[in-house]
Amino acid sequence: MALNAASNLAEKVLGRDYSNVDTITDVSKPDAAAGTADTTETMKALAWFGKGDVRVIETHKPKILEPTDVIVKVTGTTVCGSDIHLLHNVILQLKAGDILGHEFVGRVSELGSAVTELSIGDRVANSFVVSCGECRFCKQKLTTACEKTNPSNVHGDLYGSKMGGIFGYSHFVGGYAGGQAEYVRIPYAAQNLLKLPDEVPDEKGLYLADILPTSYHAVQDTGVYAGDAVAVWGLGPIGLLVSMFAFKAGASRVIGIDGNFRTEFALKKIPGIEVLDFTKLPRGRTVTAEIHDRVPGGVDVSIEAAGGEYAKGWAHKIELAVGAEQDTSELVNEAITSTRKFGRVGIIADYVGFTNHFNIGSLMERGIRLIGNGQSPVQKYWPELLAMVKSGEIDPTFIVTHRLKLDDIAKCYYVHEKKEQGMVKAYIETRFSAPRAPGIDMPELSRL
Ligand SMILES: [Zn+2]
Ligand SMILES: [Zn+2]
Repeated sequence: MALNAASNLAEKVLGRDYSNVDTITDVSKPDAAAGTADTTETMKALAWFGKGDVRVIETHKPKILEPTDVIVKVTGTTVCGSDIHLLHNVILQLKAGDILGHEFVGRVSELGSAVTELSIGDRVANSFVVSCGECRFCKQKLTTACEKTNPSNVHGDLYGSKMGGIFGYSHFVGGYAGGQAEYVRIPYAAQNLLKLPDEVPDEKGLYLADILPTSYHAVQDTGVYAGDAVAVWGLGPIGLLVSMFAFKAGASRVIGIDGNFRTEFALKKIPGIEVLDFTKLPRGRTVTAEIHDRVPGGVDVSIEAAGGEYAKGWAHKIELAVGAEQDTSELVNEAITSTRKFGRVGIIADYVGFTNHFNIGSLMERGIRLIGNGQSPVQKYWPELLAMVKSGEIDPTFIVTHRLKLDDIAKCYYVHEKKEQGMVKAYIETRFSAPRAPGIDMPELSRL
């Protein structure tokens, strides 16, 4: 197993060997030899095989392993911006053949003997986190901090304590087979599935799995109040929805920062947003200077929704490439220096490990509250978000640019990665999907 740069640095810093990923037993992957598959039926699934290599495979269907499990027949899925970190192999403990995908909708097709809250045929969305519902964190609805669902010791070594499991996101977070597949096994199903009412079609329900709760959490947890000026780094699905929720929280201004077609997309989709394309700034002009010009003194709140692997300057590009750091500090530094004295900076984007050249001086001297938002505890926000989607108060489908078939999902990763074809977010059908719901503002089915 070739270690990635992240594993190398973790080994160096922590003095432990993290090369044992191939010896991890897969309990959750449908594997005929291990007895974890239903060999009466096969399914298509998207699996990871190495850096830059994901493929649609034909494999066995998963089966119920615990009385609290259900099997969901997937009717809609998608590729998340954070899946591109997996494609780039910057997440630890990925194993060839891992089935990816942490956002999906579907129907309950098999029930474990202890599941009383769900019935066969129920329409459901998943929570990207796999949580137990019983530990002290789950009882406080901080479900991504679940203490039972992640067996990886690497996670605890690196971070101080372990977070919970995540579907389709490597053995670093439990090794659960994901839902970019025709079937998926759901552990602690009553806890990790949300029943969808008839008023919420799959096309809207899908986004309750991750991106709606994640962006809502960023705004709630960082704290956006009436009249605040807010800057958002990254105008992918999370940044766009963060902008929408910031306005709903009463923000007077929202400035979205990116360096591609997504600034134009944001202007079209988010009424009132201002954008800053950093690639169009005059030579030598910084994002911070531009923000201070537009909002004298700086914004009240900054939210980083881009990610730590996207270096801008050559120093961080080299340091990331040689494994001298796992995340660039450039965007967090920009966010800190663009924020007014005693303002708040939230990080909702994925950061994996260590970073160099962090501007701790600006943080301390100017009293900036830097908030690691953490992975969103989805279950905490489901009641209010489902009510908003059901009533039509919010409609997450405005970010959807492509409707695709599961056969094209590997291509979808590469198009997403290169930001080609104007792709922001895809809705991906399976052979079990219902016809397109009426009245949905979404592109027609297309092939990549
Ligand atoms: Zn995601
Ligand atoms: Zn728990």
